[in-house]
Amino acid sequence: MIIDTHCHLFYDELKNDLPGVIERAEESGVNRFICVGTNMEDSRECLALGETHENIYASAGVHPHDAKDVPKDYVDQIHDLMTFDSMVAVGEMGLDYFRNISEPEIQRKVFREQMQIASQLHKPVIFHNRDADEDVLRILSEFPDVIGVAHCFSSNLETAKAFIDLGFYISFSGNLTFKNSHLPDVAKELPLDKLLVETDSPYLSPVPHRSKSNEPGRTRYVAEKLAEIHDVSLEVIAEKTTANATALFCL
Ligand SMILES: [Zn+2]
Ligand SMILES: [Zn+2]
Repeated sequence: MIIDTHCHLFYDELKNDLPGVIERAEESGVNRFICVGTNMEDSRECLALGETHENIYASAGVHPHDAKDVPKDYVDQIHDLMTFDSMVAVGEMGLDYFRNISEPEIQRKVFREQMQIASQLHKPVIFHNRDADEDVLRILSEFPDVIGVAHCFSSNLETAKAFIDLGFYISFSGNLTFKNSHLPDVAKELPLDKLLVETDSPYLSPVPHRSKSNEPGRTRYVAEKLAEIHDVSLEVIAEKTTANATALFCL
């Protein structure tokens, strides 16, 4: 069994064929999914999926791209959403200085406010980090009681180790399989009991499906790549990453 710890099932590409998406995932050995919200509307869609599918879990949060558009009462809205059983994490939150779709200052404010929610509710967080290692590390350090996952990890080894030192897991997506990626060298140095796998679908389709829309079943390619990097069987990776996700998200 493999868990896709980060997918966005509310996008049309996936939503319009959800039974097919789930069936193909199960054929690939991927049978649990965390549907991750990026704003209040889609966090509600994640909740609806989580409450109606036994193998789908949900998270509620605001992506850094969406930070500029948060409704005034979004903190209260997240608190309300988090009261449901299928809600396992706050996020995705974080910083994206690569695209800076929201002003960096607004990104940091909304990130901190969500870390505060996680701290109050004793829930793990799912964070996004692009070109913002230093500021992400600073903000995570301000909330020493909060743990979670560095989703779609793409930074260097030093940053991975710093996240792990703060109690976080490192999640790899399809970009681990891309040609000339530095990520296999990073993944090789990290302990298996700190790793998770994900697709970030419908984004980031792994080799050999690079140009197509991604779907959760392709978590298997990420797990296979990790197995190759660590020179262990796919079963070992599946077992370890599933145990890690189960522990972190209390599944
Ligand atoms: Zn992300
Ligand atoms: Zn995402």
